[in-house]
Amino acid sequence: MLGLMQEWPLLCHKILDHAALQHPHREVVSRSVEGPIVRTNYAELRKRALKVAQRLERDGFKVGDRIATLAWNSARHMEAWYGIMGMGGVYHTLNPRLFPEQLAWIMNHAQDQALFVDLTFLPLVEKIAPQVPSLRQIIVLTDSAHLPPSGLASFVAYEDWLAEADGDYAWKQLDEHAAAGMCYTSGTTGDPKGVVYSHRSNVLHAMIAVMPDAMGVSVRDVVLPVVPMFHANAWGLAQSAPMVGAKLVMPGGKMDGASIYELLDTERITFTAAVPTVWLMLLQHLEETGKKLPHLNRVVIGGSACPRTVTEKFERNYGVEVVHAWGMTEMSPLGTLCTIKPEYQDLEGAERLNLQQKQGYTPFGVEMKVTDDDDNELPWDGRTFGRLKVRGPAVSASYYGGASAEQFDADGWFDTGDVAHVDEHGYMQITDRSKDVIKSGGEWISSIELENLAVGHPDVQEAAAIGVKHSRWDERPLLVVVPKQGRNPDKADLLALFDGKVAKWWVPDDVVFVDEIPHTATGKIQKSVLRERLKDYRLPTDSSA
Ligand code: ADP
Repeated sequence: MLGLMQEWPLLCHKILDHAALQHPHREVVSRSVEGPIVRTNYAELRKRALKVAQRLERDGFKVGDRIATLAWNSARHMEAWYGIMGMGGVYHTLNPRLFPEQLAWIMNHAQDQALFVDLTFLPLVEKIAPQVPSLRQIIVLTDSAHLPPSGLASFVAYEDWLAEADGDYAWKQLDEHAAAGMCYTSGTTGDPKGVVYSHRSNVLHAMIAVMPDAMGVSVRDVVLPVVPMFHANAWGLAQSAPMVGAKLVMPGGKMDGASIYELLDTERITFTAAVPTVWLMLLQHLEETGKKLPHLNRVVIGGSACPRTVTEKFERNYGVEVVHAWGMTEMSPLGTLCTIKPEYQDLEGAERLNLQQKQGYTPFGVEMKVTDDDDNELPWDGRTFGRLKVRGPAVSASYYGGASAEQFDADGWFDTGDVAHVDEHGYMQITDRSKDVIKSGGEWISSIELENLAVGHPDVQEAAAIGVKHSRWDERPLLVVVPKQGRNPDKADLLALFDGKVAKWWVPDDVVFVDEIPHTATGKIQKSVLRERLKDYRLPTDSSA
């Protein structure tokens, strides 16, 4: 027997329709690339998104065409997103922090047909565009007054292009499983891999994200997504905020402490989200100026592990609740959030901070398990760590073109490549990336835990722990350290840091000092390069080496 309820496909443009109907005058504020703060609202944004869809269709773009965007967070970028999706196109966010060759590779792989681009990135596009033959149209997100001359073909100012459409357009009626967006993972090893979101997965992800114990966004919030739309969909906020009718403030390209503070203050932001680096800059600005955060209630921090001091300062000095979150481009991106269950509500001080170091628990719509290498499920005891696997309606089922198929199993589980443990109340903590974990005598050592302890030393600027070949144990940990300028830390002193904090057999066998540790374009430590550089390193503990 089937249920007798209506077919109501979960399509992204329905989010904007709803916002324009129920919250037409709610503001969408942007710090424009041209400079001034620009104000619009959901009703206007929808009208212009309809024009984008109409104009794209008139230019000959078809359902399923990939339309790239290379832009900061702004109302124009959002109009482009909803317009692209509303005509059946697939928005493809490009990360401007990648190298030009990587961007050209990604655009060719996706076969991008058109590109919406901010003025900021025109010099970059001039390098890339000639290498992408599929590209037919470049639309610069500005007006003709600000459009500089360019040698690029098919190059037009967005406002002129848009003015030629009247907005008399009906959104395409699509299957909810139709592709809505694309984003490539940065690929620290191998080629980048394309993640393809559907209308259904985006809508469900937005509903998951706004739930009270997830991000908890409401119509009474003023939301500042500092996390860029090109970094895993701005963690869904360009969909969650209009879904609940929250006022939205888009920071453009300025993410330094003073600029972010200005928006927090003048727009009375109550909710914001970004990676830890942004918050380190803001906290430094607050400390230098003595400013406070009277309006801000909650900040979501993820993308990499949130340092303990960031949580501590936000909560103790400024009264702002920190929600540590973990996710991946492949998960739309939310996976877990560290909000407090009743089981933990009495925790205070250091114990509460310990809990907040964890990445948190899954909301409804995300399943997770931790397994050993043979796919045996490991206990949720807060200690035993293994491969973290996930599934859910907003988790990738495969990559574009079928790349890296071994990450997906027959039961629908996606191997995240992260290593984690889960405690008895369901709180997950990342201990490593699976390719970085150190395998000593068949047991695993968490490189992240060793690094966290090492950076606690006052003379250490940055540290990485890697596995180095050992004749008896297969691999043993080696600590690679960049000392702070002018400091000369002592090996024995550094290794003493680990006493009593980790099992004896976890303590690194040696320390090497270097001037610099290599990083990827997204700022993560490139351990593969370090391992390659140190592959012939002889550990003092390896007698037969
Ligand atoms: P990129 O490499 O482009 O940043 P993602 O944003 O998809 O790609 O990165 C996802 C990865 O980032 C996760 O698999 C995990 O290793 C790491 N990560 C994300 N959030 C956290 C967090 N809160 N703590 C530790 N690691 C995190």
